[in-house]
Amino acid sequence: MARASTAPHPETWLEVRPAGLYCIPGDFYVDPARPVERAVVTHGHADHARPNNAAVLATPETLAIMRSRYREAAGGTLEPLAYGEGREVNGVKVAFAPAGHVLGSAQAVLEYRGSRIVISGDYKRREDPTCTAFEPVPCDVFVTEATFGLPVFRHPPTDGEIAKLLESRRLFPERTHVVGAYALGKAQRVIALLRRAGYERPIWIHGALQQLCDLYRDHGVELGELRPATAAEKREMAGEIVLAPPSAIADRWARRLSDPVTCMASGWMRVRQRAKQRGVELPLIVSDHADWDELIQTLDDVGAPEVWVTHGSEEALVHTAGQRGFRARALSLIGRGEEEQETGAAAKPEPGAEPELPVERKP
Ligand SMILES: [Zn+2]
Ligand SMILES: [Zn+2]
Repeated sequence: MARASTAPHPETWLEVRPAGLYCIPGDFYVDPARPVERAVVTHGHADHARPNNAAVLATPETLAIMRSRYREAAGGTLEPLAYGEGREVNGVKVAFAPAGHVLGSAQAVLEYRGSRIVISGDYKRREDPTCTAFEPVPCDVFVTEATFGLPVFRHPPTDGEIAKLLESRRLFPERTHVVGAYALGKAQRVIALLRRAGYERPIWIHGALQQLCDLYRDHGVELGELRPATAAEKREMAGEIVLAPPSAIADRWARRLSDPVTCMASGWMRVRQRAKQRGVELPLIVSDHADWDELIQTLDDVGAPEVWVTHGSEEALVHTAGQRGFRARALSLIGRGEEEQETGAAAKPEPGAEPELPVERKP
């Protein structure tokens, strides 16, 4: 998108402040790291959607997720804005475009006096049966995440990873396959992919996943029969697939299952050392973030002359974007996690409590 000659440069109206990315004329933050007067929230993960903002503008699905997790601390005024609709905030037009990351995830599209900035939030380009696919939006500046912004991160086809899980189950019919998956997005996607691969048995879930699975179902995402794993007898669980938050797969909770095969669905499973550290026997590379090729592809598809990189390995993507003719710079935002942090704390915060800041940022 060619900026009109009179349009202000994006740097004059969007800046990094301690609480996060701040739109100066609009007087709002995008995904603020601490409570503010007015927040635009891209999606429900705890490092983007924090509790206790005075006003929140987000998609209806994201607001539903925030209400489900934070209850009355979800925010003062919660304003829904569906994909493709526009809302004027102090002279800045705000709209949401799908980001393909989790249910309700959006890119924030900001327009001010003929200048347009798109803030990707988290995104991926792979097909996902549980959410709306990413849509490239032409703009003057594209603010992109770079969680997997290193050439080593090339995620294999997702269906192949699901096939590995089903094959392992066939080879070890007496063992229980326990799959670690983040409570928001990853768990529901893995379930939906198993269903699509023809797996029809009940899928057993850890209690921490129940609420968000119900929420996805209420939004029309088919998950088939789910059963609470807590209620199950050890012998019933032989040969079954159980999903649990990553924090639960290696602890006492999992040991009571039938000779468990510990699996983990994450883009980080590309790093063998990570899988080892977590005691993962069967790593499944299933990511809700763009891999290196998807990041580069997206820069080309969006076609913004200028790219601001945040949230991960900024340097490599800045370098490569520059080589491909984009003006690129790193934006250093604090308080961003690699993905959802462990769900125990994030899923059920004390009302009013500050969520824990993620500590780990790089592979
Ligand atoms: Zn996210
Ligand atoms: Zn994130």
